[in-house]
Amino acid sequence: MIKVDTVTKAFHSGRRRITALDDVSLSIEAGRFTAVTGKSGSGKSTLLNCIGGLEPPDKGSINCFGTTIYSLSAGELSRFQRQEVGFVFQQGNLLSYLTVADNIGFPLALNGVNRRLRSKRVITLLHRIGLPSAANALPKELSSGEAQRVALARAIAHRPRILLADEPTANLDSATGQQAVQLMRELGRDHQCSIIMATHDNDITAIADSVICLKDGRINEEQP
Ligand code: ADP
Ligand code: MG
Repeated sequence: MIKVDTVTKAFHSGRRRITALDDVSLSIEAGRFTAVTGKSGSGKSTLLNCIGGLEPPDKGSINCFGTTIYSLSAGELSRFQRQEVGFVFQQGNLLSYLTVADNIGFPLALNGVNRRLRSKRVITLLHRIGLPSAANALPKELSSGEAQRVALARAIAHRPRILLADEPTANLDSATGQQAVQLMRELGRDHQCSIIMATHDNDITAIADSVICLKDGRINEEQP
């Protein structure tokens, strides 16, 4: 269970104070696929970043699977991120100088997984994402859909319990986007990963287990 309890987060921009999240509470059961919608600026990315340990809230708390994450020491918080969280962004954000295989294996290397096990897991994932012969390719040789599938494989390589996807289909055509989301669901189901995805895409919200709609940093009960 992921529990967001009365979280408020503000940013300062010049003399202006922008409340990105305003007293947000929600809970997400393990293994569910949750879509987060709302207009640009409504607080979606901030919510994902708070849950992923990247953005400490000003008020309130976040508990992931029994751990109140911002009560952890800096070292423990970074271990939480390294082991339990995977991120997929709008742009794949692959490391351009690493091969596809090394990109996918990167979080495993960070977690101290040895080369042999890493390579085994990478091969399994390459098959799973439909790119069995792309191991030695560089990111620039991939189409945007392929790059996003590699980014997805990298995000879940270390079997995190939380996959945070911030508008992952925004740069893909709708068919390619749908395929990427289907794949994300399948890979998530493999090991009960909770997927939280910020998206504007109605085709995606339609297949989510639950939808959270944000408006001006608050949960909008009347879903549009
Ligand atoms: P969304 O992802 O829904 O577009 P965000 O969470 O990115 O929304 O942003 C919510 C609000 O917080 C916006 O008004 C945005 O400009 C502001 N904001 C987000 N991050 C920062 C930051 N690092 N510095 C200043 N303002 C920010
Ligand atoms: Mg955003």
